[in-house]
Amino acid sequence: MILVTGGAGYIGSHVVLELNKTGKEVIVLDNLSRGHKELAFGDVFEEGDLQNFSFIDTVFKKYNIEAVVHFAASSLVGESMTSPEDYYYNNLFGSLNLLRAMRINDVNRIVFSSTAAVYGEPEHVPVSESAELVPTNVYGETKLFIETMLERYSNAYGLDSIAFRYFNAAGADADRRTGEDHIPETHLIPIILDVALGKRENITVFGNDYTTPDGTCIRDYIHVTDLASAHVLGLEKLLSGQRGKSSYNLGNGKGYSVLQIIESVREVTQRIIPVVEGKRRQGDPAVLVASSAKAESQLGWVQKHTDIKEIVSTAWNWHQRRFSK
Ligand code: UDP
Repeated sequence: MILVTGGAGYIGSHVVLELNKTGKEVIVLDNLSRGHKELAFGDVFEEGDLQNFSFIDTVFKKYNIEAVVHFAASSLVGESMTSPEDYYYNNLFGSLNLLRAMRINDVNRIVFSSTAAVYGEPEHVPVSESAELVPTNVYGETKLFIETMLERYSNAYGLDSIAFRYFNAAGADADRRTGEDHIPETHLIPIILDVALGKRENITVFGNDYTTPDGTCIRDYIHVTDLASAHVLGLEKLLSGQRGKSSYNLGNGKGYSVLQIIESVREVTQRIIPVVEGKRRQGDPAVLVASSAKAESQLGWVQKHTDIKEIVSTAWNWHQRRFSK
């Protein structure tokens, strides 16, 4: 069986849907602090927290687990700066408990959900895996330290791992079974969709004086179902004998500015989206675009949903189903 921690969250739930297609049995472990029970599509659901070592140990002893896909973490950049202790505690301590339970129970394969935030403000775009690792926020620091833990566990205990560094996950399952539902919502596309639905009055653009063509930040929006398919390929690579730790960027390779995203939402939804110009958000790099050449060549990863309008459409379909009353 495959254990998916955080499997009731945004990215985790899409990965579970992809795993279901492979016929693998899935255990979703989630504390439901940010995840949603109805979005846990595994064969078994275990509600609990990675802070609780004896709970995790029991889960490993109860099931025959061949590998872990690890999402459970706090993942908001802004919050990580105002509540660093929560991030060190949830992300570092939680991951340490998980790795310890894996070692004790002789489970030696893990796919880890990392982030482009490990690069901080990269000097060159597109960003490749060899770029310097200098995170500028606590969230990125915790993910980078967990990547280091994976390397140390590999050297000392023979743990095999793949870390995926995501750029901006976006979009939703084509069949509207799952999608983004964060409380609080801080991400660009769902916030604009809230405006389209009439649940917010406007979208504030965080800074229009960046050195980009229209002055707003450029990001790489990757469809969450494409992210999910990469996890299945990563898992297959581990199960077929990859040794040690490797890291892969996952992005679309194309950059869109905040204003371009707002325009895409206008086109897709045909709704009026009022815009307010706001200040820069602390820690936002001007441009983040991935090179995913390594994942493509080494994992055979092929993206299927690269068109920004398709990405926004799937998000809109989900958003209407989930949030319109
Ligand atoms: N952004 C914005 N207004 C918002 C939310 C986000 O202008 O209400 C911008 C943000 O500054 C960044 C981009 O949209 O340049 C994507 O932000 P998001 O929080 O979705 O993802 P992040 O890049 O932080 O992972």
